[in-house]
Amino acid sequence: MKIVIVGGVAGGASAAARIRRLDENAQVIVFERTGYMSYANCGLPYYIGGTIQDKGDLTLQNPDSFWDRFIVDVRILHEVTDIDPANKTVIVKNLESGKVYEESYDKLLLSPGAKPTRPDMTGIDNDKIFTLRTVEDTLRIEEYIAKNKPQSAAVIGGGYVGIEMAENLHENGIDVTLAEYADHILAPLDYDMAAAVHSKMEENGVKLMLNTTVKGFENAGAKIRTLTSNGDVLSDMVILSIGVTPDSFLANKAGLQLGIKGSIVVNDRMETSVPDIYAVGDAVEVKHFVTGDKALISLAGPANKQGRIAADNICGLDSRYKGSQGSSIIKVFDMTVASTGINEVQAKKAGIAYDKVVLSPMSHAGYYPGGRVMTLKVIFEKQTEKILGAQIFGFDGVDKRIDVIATAMRANLKASGLAELDLAYAPPYSSAKDPVNMAGFMIENIITGKVKQFHYEDVANLPRDGSIFLLDSRTPYEYARGHVDGFINIPVDDIRERISEISKNKPVYVMCQSGLRSYITCRILSGNGYDCYNFSGGYRFYDIVSKSKKIADKSYPCGMEEQLV
Ligand code: FAD
Repeated sequence: MKIVIVGGVAGGASAAARIRRLDENAQVIVFERTGYMSYANCGLPYYIGGTIQDKGDLTLQNPDSFWDRFIVDVRILHEVTDIDPANKTVIVKNLESGKVYEESYDKLLLSPGAKPTRPDMTGIDNDKIFTLRTVEDTLRIEEYIAKNKPQSAAVIGGGYVGIEMAENLHENGIDVTLAEYADHILAPLDYDMAAAVHSKMEENGVKLMLNTTVKGFENAGAKIRTLTSNGDVLSDMVILSIGVTPDSFLANKAGLQLGIKGSIVVNDRMETSVPDIYAVGDAVEVKHFVTGDKALISLAGPANKQGRIAADNICGLDSRYKGSQGSSIIKVFDMTVASTGINEVQAKKAGIAYDKVVLSPMSHAGYYPGGRVMTLKVIFEKQTEKILGAQIFGFDGVDKRIDVIATAMRANLKASGLAELDLAYAPPYSSAKDPVNMAGFMIENIITGKVKQFHYEDVANLPRDGSIFLLDSRTPYEYARGHVDGFINIPVDDIRERISEISKNKPVYVMCQSGLRSYITCRILSGNGYDCYNFSGGYRFYDIVSKSKKIADKSYPCGMEEQLV
């Protein structure tokens, strides 16, 4: 059997290696357009920032090493330009020699990835605008920085690549302004969870321009001017990172069925609409594991797994891809931010009746040095308790918690079942009640009616006319350092003595720092016949979100360029 693979990185290289492990006799040829195979796309920003110093570390394999281990013929600097499904051939161009030739296949696997989106706007072809996809792109940016010593950069787009580039350019001593179209960066997060990331970026000197539409670019002497709805940004370079588009021109030309944004439609065996042609990775449309809807999820994990599944099926096995849930994680300076599944915006869009918990536990036992607060949000379907998604930001142990929840989702564990997970504990690592267990306890309390909640978005609309009682159950010191208008301070430990100060015929809305003391207060008051609501996330969370609103409202109007560069 002769198998031709287009694209020699995440999906393509995984598939090639798996095919060889399954079939010692197959002939496997991989065509890769760039000069590198199996390169670490995810490591590219860190090479620019200097964390990864050796260029060699960016490539996990080269054609010689791959041949030695797998006897796979990898042809770098070879672009497949056409597919003839009827005759089962591809047309290949050797990009070094210019030679064009035909190669036949029994099975064809497409793993061409996705290309950075480049909107058709004024000045987009400016040579100070860079995108990041390949090793070559990385080296171009590295060379530009070395030669021109830019002092300032505009990063367009606050997705994963944009944020990683902002941080890594900042590591190079470059002053960064990041412009984002939406009201918050990191679209997989809800606004409230992205709020802490906004503060982290600003704290580190990255200027955020939210709600900002980029309209075009202009040359400005030695600099480039980014024209935005929120004022112009003058900088020495621009990183364009507004998302990716499936690189599906070959599939399109060959008449394969296409889906969202021109992605390749595949079934759960990674078969395209044309016999003997498979496709995987960023170029394909997937089923969202949570909603069952069609989705584009451009991540390395799914691409690698799909490559393996396609290889299985090519080799006569029966493997199925059950969908992507978009588990992802990013380092933002010293903070870690992660998510899995869907967020509130997506749940609303899908018409799912959901509830959520927000909590801010310590990463490990409070009495053991070094613990840091993390904030988790878990979203679940009210009726079924299906876990819809989770978002976490913090400094330590975020990766572990998001992966536990992602695993629970795969195993269709109910949200309250998080309480039952028997997780490893010793003081340096966790608490006897792990943050994931705590989320489960809270969900169970909500489902069983032991506690009712109110959320950030409810606070502004709470009546201040005396019809409800607003209670802050922290210490007077904490209260004095900051509280929400209208909330009256009665510390949790004084509640029983001062209970007469709270009128029994009014609902009581309780807030503390993290949500724990207010929960205890609610239980005490409920036990005394009160109707109570606990603030989800605590004042700390309220404060983080409120501060971020100020960043969102801040604009950098025209004429203030000097302050931005
Ligand atoms: P790719 O790995 O992109 O490989 C496709 C290859 O096909 C390309 O090298 C391309 O040159 C080649 N090709 C395309 N068309 C042709 C053709 N006609 N002929 C020959 N060759 C062709 N994901 C994560 O999960 N975590 C991360 O931290 C993360 N960080 C990232 C950082 C950056 C800067 C980038 C760009 C991506 C990052 N990703 C990350 C996404 C991840 O890299 C992709 O989801 C994954 O590589 C997709 O695999 P793929 O095989 O579909 O495509």
